[in-house]
Amino acid sequence: MRLDITVLPGDGVGPEVTREAVRVLRTVLDLYGYEASFEERAIGGVAIRQFGTPLPEATVRACTESTAVLLGAVGGPEFDSLPSGQRPEAGLLGLRQALGGYANLRPAVSYGAIADCSPLRADVIKDANVLIVRELLGGIYFGEPRGFSAGSAPDAYNTMRYTVAEIERVAHVAFRQAQLRRGKLTSVDKANVLETSQLWRETVTRVGREYPDVRLEHMYVDACAMRLITSPASFDVIVTENLFGDILSDEAAVISGSLGMLASATIGGKVDLYEPVHGSAPDIAGRGIANPLGAIASAAMLLRHSAKLEQGAHDIEDAIREVLDKGHRTADLLPQHASSGRAGEPGQRGRAKRAISTTEMGALVESAVADVADRRRAYHAV
Ligand code: NAD
Repeated sequence: MRLDITVLPGDGVGPEVTREAVRVLRTVLDLYGYEASFEERAIGGVAIRQFGTPLPEATVRACTESTAVLLGAVGGPEFDSLPSGQRPEAGLLGLRQALGGYANLRPAVSYGAIADCSPLRADVIKDANVLIVRELLGGIYFGEPRGFSAGSAPDAYNTMRYTVAEIERVAHVAFRQAQLRRGKLTSVDKANVLETSQLWRETVTRVGREYPDVRLEHMYVDACAMRLITSPASFDVIVTENLFGDILSDEAAVISGSLGMLASATIGGKVDLYEPVHGSAPDIAGRGIANPLGAIASAAMLLRHSAKLEQGAHDIEDAIREVLDKGHRTADLLPQHASSGRAGEPGQRGRAKRAISTTEMGALVESAVADVADRRRAYHAV
């Protein structure tokens, strides 16, 4: 198989972390005998400086003609005074619209070695590995009518609306993900109050009959919000509508312990888009200290969804775990960044004497990927 990947490094730490993701991707694709081309294009602030627009036509064309798009991040303080439609972030919104992905996939994984980076207790997040599938193009963010009436007694309104077709397509994505994982799907709604949720529940239940190997459960969003932080390991895949998914995916992010660890994929449109969850991190940009693991884990998602190379995706995920298990840490994973308030305690993080750079972390994952693949081959050979 041949892959044509458009790489959009973007601004701030974007180029630093995508460089490492591309390095790891190249290695895995090579290991599996895939041919691949990587073409860099401009988006965000860098595109404003070069072309006067955050989303040049040539970038959109390159993306829509490729197999997959790998993005870093966009934005920066120097652009904050621009009108919102001309800012770097407008480029990313425009790209998402042009690609048309309707399912946003956000994994939240607890890595045992850095469990004490999370504000949640290590025993609570132990073995947590949840994938949130969020519907991205419908619901209250897009529903009409919407409005804000000013005046002496202002009022405002939004409309939450879903069609059966919108629910069905994202439900299929979620069921297929559950089949690839541990076979459990939790559909989250507020069917005791909202008509859209009643349609959601009916539709997901009906789609579920096509997936008898997946255990489907329904949960109200308030109960899910609580379960996610009290018992995150009880979830496998969660599917939910746009607004609930927006909130729950950020909540679940605390499981991983650092923004730099989080990956995402937006799939179902013309071409799928892979990007770390974090922004351009202007406070640390250019210092070579950003954590590239979120970008590298996004590359693993690219292998899984766009290249159908599940084993390669596993190799990267195992390599990330292995590198962390050996005690290697970027600065965000060291005690002074502790969000748990237990920074001084000797924990797993304490084993790292110093923070390693973005490039060192990329190189370690690259070499671990080759080891993981070698060991697997040797295991299957005996
Ligand atoms: P941010 O995600 O860039 O940074 C938040 C905090 O997390 C910072 O302290 C940063 O240093 C840290 N951080 C982020 N990524 C990291 C990494 N890989 N390794 C280590 N630490 C990391 O969010 P922000 O500061 O609110 O936004 C900065 C800019 O990024 C803004 O212009 C914003 O609009 C933009 N932004 C872009 C995206 C995107 O491109 N998808 C997402 C969010 C924010």
